Amino acid sequence: MGGFGLSTDVFAKFHSTYHLKKPMYHILSEPFEEEYLLSAVLRNNELARSETLGFRSSELTSTNLYELQCNASNVFGGMFEKSKFDHTLHPLGVLFDKIKIKNMVFIPRMNLRICVRCVTEDSNRIGTAYLHRQHVILGTQVCHLHGDDLLSACPHCQTEIRRHKITRLSKCMLEMIEVENSRLDSAEHKYSIFVQEILTHENLSKYRQYSLSTMDYSLKRLGYASSSKTNYSQVLLDVDKELCPINYKYRRPRQESTIGYIPIYIYPRIAYFLYRTLDQFFKEIEIVHSLDK
Ligand SMILES: [Zn+2]
Ligand SMILES: [Zn+2]
Repeated sequence: MGGFGLSTDVFAKFHSTYHLKKPMYHILSEPFEEEYLLSAVLRNNELARSETLGFRSSELTSTNLYELQCNASNVFGGMFEKSKFDHTLHPLGVLFDKIKIKNMVFIPRMNLRICVRCVTEDSNRIGTAYLHRQHVILGTQVCHLHGDDLLSACPHCQTEIRRHKITRLSKCMLEMIEVENSRLDSAEHKYSIFVQEILTHENLSKYRQYSLSTMDYSLKRLGYASSSKTNYSQVLLDVDKELCPINYKYRRPRQESTIGYIPIYIYPRIAYFLYRTLDQFFKEIEIVHSLDK
């Protein structure tokens, strides 16, 4: 043996225990109501580490997120074991019958945004800010509660929200002067409310099998060409005219052939365009498919 003073046996044993032992995940703060899953994880990481350490998302690997899909009790200390659907965009997958999508479309890592008034109100109410799952969905532009613009960077320190410490948001917002910026009752606001209604509805699975075929039926009645896939590209132009009035004139028309895989956030946009409220959507499903109430 060389002069290392550690036999191969002991060395091997040390390494196997080291690797087998799962790091404990201490939950310091349970997720708040409607808190986005990543927000709860990042906040806990921030709370668990010393303030001086810069990193906080190293524990948030794709493997973690994948595991969450298969066995939620194994990851993040089981924080989402009972209520994954309350903290992600999974309800969209339920309503539009796409829940089998295996990737992490329901837990997007990008598009993290805040509403300044939500940050302030949450901080006053519970002592900390957090990210709302309603604020991370692509295609929405304003807060469902306040109608304020959703911001992807902190208006005080300019840090992107995905890099901003969540536990520091309240402090940054303290320094902001309130500006009247609400788009309450605008089309964008109504759309945010529509998405919010989907995320919080309790019985989406009742409509799961019928939602897409009902949308197809309604589109045909409006004169759009057959079958959803080719259909959606033209419909989206019309949706965009209403929901993205500023960007619209700079956007090139979509080529039909580019729509193969349809991103999940497209479906609620089409449904909003057709029915305006979730109630109306469900009524239509019940009529088309003669469902019992
Ligand atoms: Zn808000
Ligand atoms: Zn900031």
